[in-house]
Amino acid sequence: MDVVTDTERLPSQGETLLGTDYFMTPGGKGANQAVAASRLGGDVSFIGKVGNDVFGDRLMTNLQQNGVNTGGIESSETFSSGMANVLLKNRDNRIIVVPGANNQVTADYAEHYRHILKESDIVLAQLEIPLSTIEWCAAFCHEHDIPFILNPAPAQPLPETLLKHSTYITPNEEEYTKINTPSVEKDYGETFITTLGARGVRYRNITVSAPQVKAIDTTGAGDTFNGALSYYLAAGYNIENALYLSNTAASFAVEQSGAQAGMPSFQQVQERAY
Ligand code: ADP
Repeated sequence: MDVVTDTERLPSQGETLLGTDYFMTPGGKGANQAVAASRLGGDVSFIGKVGNDVFGDRLMTNLQQNGVNTGGIESSETFSSGMANVLLKNRDNRIIVVPGANNQVTADYAEHYRHILKESDIVLAQLEIPLSTIEWCAAFCHEHDIPFILNPAPAQPLPETLLKHSTYITPNEEEYTKINTPSVEKDYGETFITTLGARGVRYRNITVSAPQVKAIDTTGAGDTFNGALSYYLAAGYNIENALYLSNTAASFAVEQSGAQAGMPSFQQVQERAY
């Protein structure tokens, strides 16, 4: 859950300040990406964990209202729902993310839901749960010939086995510079799909430019791109077409504020793309 507080200035130490406004909005990279894929028409299942609290209820309801299958989500009795505390001053923001129940999404937990992975045409993961869980999922998918997309956000160095087991790795430019060392580039450079903001996306020697739109808020652009990429690849589109359509899908996300608000339907993407 993103809890966003608007303020005219940031408080100094020990100061209590009156903010201008606040709102709560469902977030989390995985949830956003699941919603993006589902809006396009994908049959999406989510594996994760929320807390047994009001945020957890809202997060579950939001996923269900967006058509995401929540059979792989349990509610933790001991940890709170993951939360991002966002202080927003004009366009400047300061964020504290508390993973909460997300940290309980262990490899054993994911293994318990292996049937969901096994039934899937594609699996998409982010780095907001423990790395060991992602490593297990990637190895499982590799073993069962299921394409595995890793959105390496928030960025951190990636273990060799995870690089090896990922079909595609989708950082933005900033994440790319954090992950990419000369040896990663040499052995896994061809796996990377790097999003370039308003400039589109790069994959190997292909750059697909983004549609020109009026950007209002880029929150959720990368999430829309990742959800869309998974959807189009799972639906059988080749990588060039999938990149083009995912880029088009992501361009909708920047036209509205909030991560999920602007996520398009299949029809909307078609109309802009062709
Ligand atoms: P993130 O949101 O993770 O930082 P990017 O900023 O690279 O990732 O954006 C992801 C994708 O969203 C881009 O590849 C592009 O398709 C789309 N996008 C982002 N900003 C714009 C923009 N200003 N105009 C059009 N499309 C955009």
